[in-house]
Amino acid sequence: MAGTRKPVVEVRRSQRRRRTVSAYRDGERVVVLIPDQFSRAEETEWVDRMLARLAAREERACRSDAELLGRAQRLIDRYLSEHGQTAVPASVRWVTNQNGRWGSCTPADRTIRISHRIQEMPDWVIDYVLLHELAHLVVPSHNARFWELVGRYPKAERARGYLEGVAASTGLVLTD
Ligand SMILES: [Zn+2]
Repeated sequence: MAGTRKPVVEVRRSQRRRRTVSAYRDGERVVVLIPDQFSRAEETEWVDRMLARLAAREERACRSDAELLGRAQRLIDRYLSEHGQTAVPASVRWVTNQNGRWGSCTPADRTIRISHRIQEMPDWVIDYVLLHELAHLVVPSHNARFWELVGRYPKAERARGYLEGVAASTGLVLTD
C-alpha cells in the first residue's frame, strides 16, 4: 500500500460545529474539521480516527475488476463448490451504467456486472451481491433452488436488509 506515510493534516476548528467531525483530502493534505470546544486530546484522537476512516474509504474505492474476480473465486470455493464448473463467470466487472441494479448476470455469455454504487459498501454486502449473481449462473431464476444456494451465505438476510435500506433512502428501486 502506498498510503502508509502519514499525510499532512490541517485541523480546522469551527464554532458552529458541536459534535460532528469530518475530513476530506485536499491535494496532498487532509483537512479535518472539528468542533471548537474539543480538547487537544480529543483533537489527536479524532484526527487519527478520521485518517483511518479516510484510508479505508480510499482503499474501498480502489476495488478493481481483478479483485472482484478473486473475490468471486473465493465465494465459489466456499459456497458453490459443487458447482465449480458452472458458477465460474467468463468475466466479472464493475460498471457505472446499471440503472438501479446492484448487479446483473447474463447466463448466455456467463458475464457478471456489479454496480459501482456498491463499491464503497462493506465487504459482506459486496460478497452477497456477487454470490447472488454467481448463483444465477447455476440457477437463472429466483426459485427455491436459487434461494437455497444464496442462503448458504450467513449474512444473506442482513445484506438484503442493508441494500433495501440504501434503496429506500436513495429512491433507487431494488432489483437484482
Ligand atoms: Zn437475482
